[in-house]
Amino acid sequence: MKLPELPEAETIKRELEQSVVGLKIVDVEVPVSSVVKIPTNDFVRRVRGTTITGIGRRAKIILIHLSSGDTLLFHLKVAGNLLYMPADVEKEKAQVIFVLNNGYELRFRDPRLFGYVKLISGDVFRSPELSRLGPEPLSDQFTLDTFREMLQRRPRSQIKGLLLDQSFIAGIGNIYADEILFYARVYPTRPAGSLKDEEIRRIYEGIRVILSRAIAERGTSIISYIDLYGKKGNYGNFLKVHYQAGKPCGNDCAGTVVKIKVAGRGTYVCPDCQK
Ligand SMILES: [Zn+2]
Repeated sequence: MKLPELPEAETIKRELEQSVVGLKIVDVEVPVSSVVKIPTNDFVRRVRGTTITGIGRRAKIILIHLSSGDTLLFHLKVAGNLLYMPADVEKEKAQVIFVLNNGYELRFRDPRLFGYVKLISGDVFRSPELSRLGPEPLSDQFTLDTFREMLQRRPRSQIKGLLLDQSFIAGIGNIYADEILFYARVYPTRPAGSLKDEEIRRIYEGIRVILSRAIAERGTSIISYIDLYGKKGNYGNFLKVHYQAGKPCGNDCAGTVVKIKVAGRGTYVCPDCQK
């Protein structure tokens, strides 16, 4: 279970834009020093006193740009959360706490300790986390022609594995890969080279439609995802196949959703209408 995916990260990014841009970080607390990847003293010294100038996102990674020119890079991994709350709310085992000048705090919390916060100097897009990522699926640069060319370079790869491969396309995880392929009525083990032009077009459309809808519903909360304000996402109510094994297919067909294993991941399909 890998969360968050692009829609969840985009939701947090938009909420950060509304809540923290322009605020000053007056103090930084790092109760769990391994999360920041550099000596705690250096981290605190370079972040304290800066102002938040902007927010970014690439794939599932959230960026907070600082007036110093540095960027905070948040990798939420499986279970990390970023929370914005009044400073007097109990800290609930946060690993990094940014004390803001409006009485609120921004807290990074990951009970499983896989997530981390890095402070990047210079061009953040050259950092190892970002430089090897595939295209952003909702960007103007990601066109149907681009997608077709990308698939032509990987003819033997299974389509689901490609959708999950962050160096092929950024930000899609297990939930949305299943929903996209169901939307496109394409079976997840199909090699990219076997896809007909019409199927490629439907997968492309599915990527754009499913991710946009999920963002509009502020993401999916199956296990651990909550947004900046501690609220769950709504898209779980709209899942057609993921986590729906045994339920009737919603595609006007007589099929039943089943769970199989593809690319090492639990994968949900309707074998009747996904070919
Ligand atoms: Zn079906």
